[in-house]
Amino acid sequence: MSRTAEAPSTVVVVGSLNVDLVVGLDRMPNQGESVLGDTFERHAGGKGLNQAIAAARLGAEVQLLGAVGDDDSGAWLRALVRADNVDDTFVATVPGPSGTALIEVDARGLNRIIVVPGANGHVSAATVSANIRAMSGVGVVMTNGEVPLAVSRAALAAGRAIGALTMLNPAPVLDYREHLVDVDILVPNEHEAAALSGLPTQSDAEARAAAEYFYAQGIPNVVITRGARGATWASAAGIVDVDTFEVAAIDTVAAGDAFCGGLAAALANGYAFADALEWASAAGALAVTIKGASPSLPTRAAIEGLLGKGTITPPVAG
Ligand code: ADP
Repeated sequence: MSRTAEAPSTVVVVGSLNVDLVVGLDRMPNQGESVLGDTFERHAGGKGLNQAIAAARLGAEVQLLGAVGDDDSGAWLRALVRADNVDDTFVATVPGPSGTALIEVDARGLNRIIVVPGANGHVSAATVSANIRAMSGVGVVMTNGEVPLAVSRAALAAGRAIGALTMLNPAPVLDYREHLVDVDILVPNEHEAAALSGLPTQSDAEARAAAEYFYAQGIPNVVITRGARGATWASAAGIVDVDTFEVAAIDTVAAGDAFCGGLAAALANGYAFADALEWASAAGALAVTIKGASPSLPTRAAIEGLLGKGTITPPVAG
C-alpha cells in the first residue's frame, strides 16, 4: 500500500440530493383505485448526497455542490450532510421542492419509482464552474447524471482546469459523449457500461472488452463495477480484474455510490490507483451488508476492519 507524502486534498462532489419517500404495500393500486399502504419511511438519497457522505465517512474533506428546495426536506437534507462533515457551502437553496423520489414496494418486492428532480434541475452550470475554478487544494472532482448535463459537463471542465482528477459516474444513462474529453476516471456499473457502449458486459471477457472500448476513446481510467463479481479496470497498464470482498449481501442499494466515494477519497489522499480500488471495493462490499442508502455507507473504521487492522494504512493520515 503506497501513498504520496502530500497533504490530503479535497473531494468535490457535484450531484443530486433527494428525499426518498418509501411506501410498503400489499399490492399496487390500479388506475383510479385507492389502497392502504402498510409502511412509510423517509430516507435521504441522491447520488450526490450518497457519494459525498461516502467520501466523508472515510475521512476525506468533502465539498458538495448542488441544490435543495426551500421546503422542509431541503433543510433536513442540509442538516444530514452537515452531520456527516460534508461542507454544504455551495449547496444552493432554490424556490420550490427538493428532489423527491416516490417509491412503492409491494409484497413481492417489486417496485415503482417516480423521481421528481425538483431543485436538482435548477443547479446552475455557471455557478458550479465558477465555484470550482475558485477552489484550491482539490484532488478529485466527481459528478453524475442526476443533475442537468450542462452542470456535470461544466464540473468536469472546471475540475480539469484546476488540475484535479475528474471522475464521472454515468448514471442514469444519458448522452455523455461531450463529457468524455474531460474525464480522467469513468465509473459505470455493468448495465450502464452496456447501454453506453452497445456491448455486452456479462462475462469477464465481455466486461474487459467494454472497458477497452471506453479506454480506446481516450479515457485514462475506466472502472466497470460488476456487483458481487467485483470490477474491471482498464488503464495504460492494461486490463485488471479487481477482486471483491466476500460479504453477506442484504441490500445492494448505494453499493456503487459507496464505491465511487471510496475511490475518490483514497485518490484525493494520494493513494495509487490500484490501492484506491481496494478501498473502493471494501466500501462497496460493506454497503451491501446494511439496509438503505446513507445508513449503509461505511466508516473508515469499518473498512479497516474488513481489510484487516494493521495491514493497511488508512487513506487519511489519522
Ligand atoms: P451499482 O450499485 O452502481 O449497481 P455495483 O452493484 O456494481 O454498483 O457495486 C459496486 C461495487 O460494490 C462492486 O464493484 C463491488 O466492489 C461492490 N459490491 C457490490 N455488490 C457486492 C456484493 N454482493 N459483494 C461484495 N461486493 C459487492
